[in-house]
Amino acid sequence: MAVIVYGTHVFTKLAGYFGPKEECPFCQKTYQKGYVKNTIWAHLEYIPLFPVKIKYFKMCPVCGRGVELKNKEAKAEMSSGDGCCQELQPYAKHITANKPSGLMSKDNSYQFWIKDALSGEEMLVASELTRKDLKQIKKARGYKKFPLTTI
Ligand SMILES: [Zn+2]
Repeated sequence: MAVIVYGTHVFTKLAGYFGPKEECPFCQKTYQKGYVKNTIWAHLEYIPLFPVKIKYFKMCPVCGRGVELKNKEAKAEMSSGDGCCQELQPYAKHITANKPSGLMSKDNSYQFWIKDALSGEEMLVASELTRKDLKQIKKARGYKKFPLTTI
């Protein structure tokens, strides 16, 4: 018997950084907020058919805390924002030195970093991550590029 798989899949994309620079109450970093567009697609047999819903999230570009916005709000804020001067580069590090190979059942020696390309500041956002955690971060924040360095 053939099983036909129908469902939805979420594609995320970082639309950009907009609005004024504000200090984040959680991580105390002052940046423009990141706007992430989530497009929910209906799929059949894992082939996307059509978008069924769009959602926007506005988040601190460093720690990732934020809120969901109504589409109208998001579009208004994104069009009014002076997309000035902010360049953040996310990347991951894999701490292989700490890893006795074969002894650990779960490798959680990954770290998530963000580099401010203008000031040169490098910020450690999260550590003790697994590869799966990294994938989730990449998806939640809509990163296109997320280079991994091994140290
Ligand atoms: Zn923050």
